[in-house]
Amino acid sequence: MQTQTNTTLLIIGGGPGGYVAALRAGQLGIPTILVEGEALGGTCLNIGCIPSKALIHLAERFHEAQALAGGDSPLGIQTSAPTLDLARGIAWKDGIVKRLTTGVGALLKKHKVMVVQGWARIVDGKTVDVEMRAAKGARADSQRIRCEHLLLATGSEPVALPFMPFGGRVLSSTEALSPEALPKRLAVVGAGYIGLELGTVYRKLGVEVDVIEARDRILPAYDAELSKPVAAALKTLGVRTHVSTQLLGLSEDGEGVRVQGQDGQERTLAADRVLVAVGRRPRSRGFGLSALMLDMDGAAVRVDSQCRSSMRNVWAIGDLTGEPMLAHRAMAQGEMVAELVAGHTRHFEPAAIAAVCFTDPEIVTAGLSPEQATAAGVDAIQASFPFAANGRAMTLESSDGFVRVVARRDNHLILGWQAVGRAVSELSAAFSQSLEMGARLEDVAGTIHAHPTLGEAVQEAALRALGRPLHI
Ligand code: FAD
Ligand code: NAD
Repeated sequence: MQTQTNTTLLIIGGGPGGYVAALRAGQLGIPTILVEGEALGGTCLNIGCIPSKALIHLAERFHEAQALAGGDSPLGIQTSAPTLDLARGIAWKDGIVKRLTTGVGALLKKHKVMVVQGWARIVDGKTVDVEMRAAKGARADSQRIRCEHLLLATGSEPVALPFMPFGGRVLSSTEALSPEALPKRLAVVGAGYIGLELGTVYRKLGVEVDVIEARDRILPAYDAELSKPVAAALKTLGVRTHVSTQLLGLSEDGEGVRVQGQDGQERTLAADRVLVAVGRRPRSRGFGLSALMLDMDGAAVRVDSQCRSSMRNVWAIGDLTGEPMLAHRAMAQGEMVAELVAGHTRHFEPAAIAAVCFTDPEIVTAGLSPEQATAAGVDAIQASFPFAANGRAMTLESSDGFVRVVARRDNHLILGWQAVGRAVSELSAAFSQSLEMGARLEDVAGTIHAHPTLGEAVQEAALRALGRPLHI
């Protein structure tokens, strides 16, 4: 049976882009329907940001306990060797996911957003059919929804290698986030965000890990000075990284992967599981999107600075619109589109979208790197302050890494920040704020930063760029 409903705003996809758009639309009194085929919270809450960060924490706690049991802690603490109840740890992670996704459902209800559980299929720019999720054994009903504005927020999916598709021993991040048992040996293909965040998790839990990267260094999207401390830490941890290495496929005996190194030699790396993390692609196939004939950038929907597609009143946000595929970008775009639909004047022109890689140590960047500033033709100055000279970093046993600032030489306007070190993800707020507010080096240098904190390194980097650092 098919029912028909009319609404002002119809959102396809309940990830951070779609659900934030729905919440803001609800606040603004716009009649809104949100269609979600799988689970509210999307990739981010269910199989992305949150579960990966939970496992990073779990693995770090286990690893710390193991180090203490090793008996050479300079802190003088000794414990007996830890054991891991993996099922309990995974249940803890799933509990966090459940709490957050239930919270999203409650917030949508509070803001009077109608949530339709089912897969959407686009009929035209104002009409969508939804195959409703049916109770076990019952026939699925479908619903036709007509809208004035259609917001596409269908996210992204992992890229599969054509010669080594997902399934069996070949895992995507989704399976790697919910292991029933730990493999003895894991091969990770791709030394990007997912490969290194999850590769580190598995290694800290005791798994032998080999990382295969096609490019000539790990984290090629970041500048080399930032990735170097991560490479060194991976080596200390016992993660074997193979850069400039081509993956050829699974070995015939099914017990490893075949690779070809820079020297042209073929060899087999033993592995009972393979995590493929070679990027994600916008989810633009399989639900009738092509019928709209929108302007596309490859698999991504092309949008302007207001997230309008090439068709009137059809909007697109988040991973579906391409890089950077980050949850906070999707949320910011979603909030903006709701306001535009309500008649406000908005543009998506952030001064910076911070990016954090939750490796150990962490990396955070916001705005321009020194190379990017030079490439943009800006006469820029830069200065770094090492955590080796920061008291708080020493008390946290983490004095590796640094904070770097990039600013215009003529008026000291800050153009970018980069940092690598333990817990530097939390500096991202200060970095983004200073860029968004148009701060100059003198503003940060003249702000009293609490002592002892890692944030003092931010102030010191600004002071150093002005030629007057105090603690180095
Ligand atoms: P998604 O979150 O992908 O949501 C899209 C939703 O649309 C899904 O729920 C899907 O079921 C639904 N959908 C799709 N098609 C249809 C249809 N036809 N009908 C109905 N529903 C449909 N980003 C960060 O910023 N920080 C991190 O630390 C981070 N960690 C990550 C870790 C991992 C392992 C992964 C995989 C990703 C991570 N990301 C991280 C990226 C982040 O998850 C995405 O950028 C973000 O989820 C994108 O939000 P979105 O709303 O565009 O799409
Ligand atoms: P990625 O783009 O970060 O890294 C992919 C890596 O795989 C690259 O280094 C690339 O050179 C390499 N590669 C590609 N093909 C290869 C091949 N055939 N053999 C060997 N190496 C190969 O992609 P990802 O790690 O899959 O993550 C996908 C996206 O998810 C990210 O771009 C990011 O937007 C998002 N994400 C963000 C976070 C975060 O914000 N902390 C965490 C996880 C994921």
